[in-house]
Order: sequence, then structure tokens, then C-alpha cells
Amino acid sequence: MKTKPVVFIGAGPGAADLITLRGAQRLRAASVVLHDALTDPALRDFAPQATWVDVGKRGFCDSTGQARINALLVRYAQAGHAVVRLKGGDPSVFGRLEEELEALAEAGLEAEVVPGVTAAIAAAAALQRPLTRRGTGRSVALTTAMTKSGDLRASRSADTEVFYMAGRQLAALSRRLVEAGWPADTPVAVVSRAGWPDQIASDHRADSLAEAALLHAGRPTVVTVGVGARSVAKLRHRGLSRLSQGVSAGPRVAQS
Ligand code: SAH
Repeated sequence: MKTKPVVFIGAGPGAADLITLRGAQRLRAASVVLHDALTDPALRDFAPQATWVDVGKRGFCDSTGQARINALLVRYAQAGHAVVRLKGGDPSVFGRLEEELEALAEAGLEAEVVPGVTAAIAAAAALQRPLTRRGTGRSVALTTAMTKSGDLRASRSADTEVFYMAGRQLAALSRRLVEAGWPADTPVAVVSRAGWPDQIASDHRADSLAEAALLHAGRPTVVTVGVGARSVAKLRHRGLSRLSQGVSAGPRVAQS
């Protein structure tokens, strides 16, 4: 396949070895890499020859920031660079891919998208809790709790619902979950920095999620609600409780 002028690559959720082989290969061929703040600095070793531009910094996050990223993508590609747009997780999940693909299309530039491991999947792996279960877990929703205007919303649209971008508002999310019809004792697992050596996971109920706020403060966090948050029966005495840090009344915690 002929190389496209811009390649979007999902870097995965953390450690550099969670990028796909294809992603690593495309990175090696890059001359310019526009990357998010979330991605592991060790990824630079795949493309030491390239110019690395951090577009995940503050100032790039709002809509003017997005317009500048779009403009940079177009400008570098038009100048003949092999451009990689490296994103945390998967580019298609809460990654502003639509805006960037549109900007390229408007400029008549073609792109390729290389998938990555999204945070929900990395969290499921960390927890050893499958997101789908035969008979009970037939659907999974990837949801952001934050609306465009900054309000917090929750829904109950699948057997397992994974909330992104709610780490700072776990108490409010807890209230919204119950309002949305999740029973108070629904299992909820919170995982921060999934896929990194210092990932932390903890167990809660829909109505007690506020207790997780301090533990995961300041870290990228996903919240898995419903069937997929339930531990696998025969692992129940291992998993999180095996690694428990001795919190008996509060959340069960594991750090690996
Ligand atoms: N494209 C990314 C998501 C970007 S939105 C993906 O596919 O994963 C940023 C949100 O993703 C964070 O607020 C957090 O909710 C989640 N996130 C990203 N990396 C994470 C990680 N390693 N562990 C837990 N959550 C993570």
C-alpha cells in the first residue's frame, strides 16, 4: 500500500510496548510526529530521526488549539513531510479524529488510521474482567461523562458502560449513575493509568464511587460500570483483594 502523507497512530494507553507492530513501523518512517501529552516518552525511541511536536500541552486543548493542530497537520503534510499524528489509546475513541480527518480532506490530503488499545480495553485487561460475558453482558458502551459544555451526564445504555474523562468528578458521577437508573449496589471498577507499571484499580458500588476520588486523583482514569466490573467468579479470592492494601471498610485496591 502506498504510504499516505498523514498516519494517525493509536499509541495505546501507556507503556510503549502496547503500541501495535504496525504503529511502530509507521512511526519509524515518520519525519514529523505530532503527539498528545498522554503518550509514553519511550515511544520516541521508535522515531529518533523525527521532529517531535507536543500538541497535547495546555493551550492546544480548546477549540483554538484544535484549529492549530489541524493547521499544523496540513502544513507539514503539504511541505512533503511524512507526518504521524500519535494519539493516546485509540484515535477513534474521544480523540478528535473527526476534526482532523476533515481538515485533511478539505486540503485534499489522504490519511491512514492505525488502531490502538483504548483505555477501556486496557482497564479490562488490568482487572482481568471481560467487558462482555456470555449470557449477561451483551453490550458495551464507551461513554464520556462530560458534555461539550462541561456538564456531567451519565446514562445506562449498555450492560457494561465505561466512562472516560470523569476522573475529577467521581462524586458527581456516582449521583448521576443512580439517577440514570443503575441500582445502588451495581459493581463499579475504577482504573487509573491502566497499562502503566503504576496502574491502580479499585472496587466500588454505584452509590459509593466518591470514595475513589482521592486514590485516583490527578491520574487518567476510566470507570467501568455494570457487568464488566464484576470479578470473574474463580478469581474472586485473587485479583484486587489479593493485592489489597488493607483497606477493609473502603474500596478494594490493587496496584501492580
Ligand atoms: N483516545 C483515548 C482517550 C482520550 S480521552 C483512548 O482511546 O483511550 C482521555 C481520557 O481517556 C482520560 O480522561 C481517561 O478517562 C482515559 N484514559 C486515557 N488513558 C488512560 C489510562 N492509561 N488509564 C485510564 N484511563 C485512561
